[in-house]
Amino acid sequence: MVARDRTEIAVIGAGVVGLTIALELVEAGREVVLVDPGQPGMGASYGNAGTIAGYAVRPVGTPAVLRSLPSLMFSRTSPLAIRHRALPSLMPWLMRFLWQSLPAQTERNARAIAALLADAGERWDDLALQVAGAGILQRRGCLYVY
Ligand SMILES: Cc1cc2nc3c(=O)[nH]c(=O)nc-3n(C[C@H](O)[C@H](O)[C@H](O)COP(=O)(O)OP(=O)(O)OC[C@H]3O[C@@H](n4cnc5c(N)ncnc54)[C@H](O)[C@@H]3O)c2cc1C
Repeated sequence: MVARDRTEIAVIGAGVVGLTIALELVEAGREVVLVDPGQPGMGASYGNAGTIAGYAVRPVGTPAVLRSLPSLMFSRTSPLAIRHRALPSLMPWLMRFLWQSLPAQTERNARAIAALLADAGERWDDLALQVAGAGILQRRGCLYVY
């Protein structure tokens, strides 16, 4: 979906990230075009669980992930699959991921995520009011069952 050929700023991808960035830019008086091959908001932003998960501060890379690496790498039922041919090009990223999964880095990353999420609830309240009305958000808690 491209509205015009020329624009001051093009935002690639019209999911929740692109849409909120575009909204901020428009409010700041900038000219913005959203570029997306599909309808806005129909990617991951459509098919998710819909929780405002301010508690979800645990980074993906943690010491627990490091400990389970052998089974992740070699088990036949592992959810992790890496094409061997891609390993050389992935190696720099994998090394950074391993480093970031050490205890001190994990704690620092969790604190950074917590700071980012601290006012997520209030910011979603504001955004909901602005774009769709207060009724779009419901406060019913969230129950995880294992
Ligand atoms: C099963 C599931 C459950 C989840 N549950 C939650 C939850 O409860 N709470 C929560 O906060 N988060 C949840 N998430 C995560 C959340 O949905 C995503 O983090 C968020 O939607 C990502 O938004 P996005 O705008 O980056 O991506 P998307 O919504 O996927 O938007 C990306 C857009 O980019 C477009 N695009 C892709 N490639 C190009 C290209 N080359 N050029 C132009 N456009 C392109 C796509 O068409 C798409 O519209 C969940 C995710 C999943 C998969």
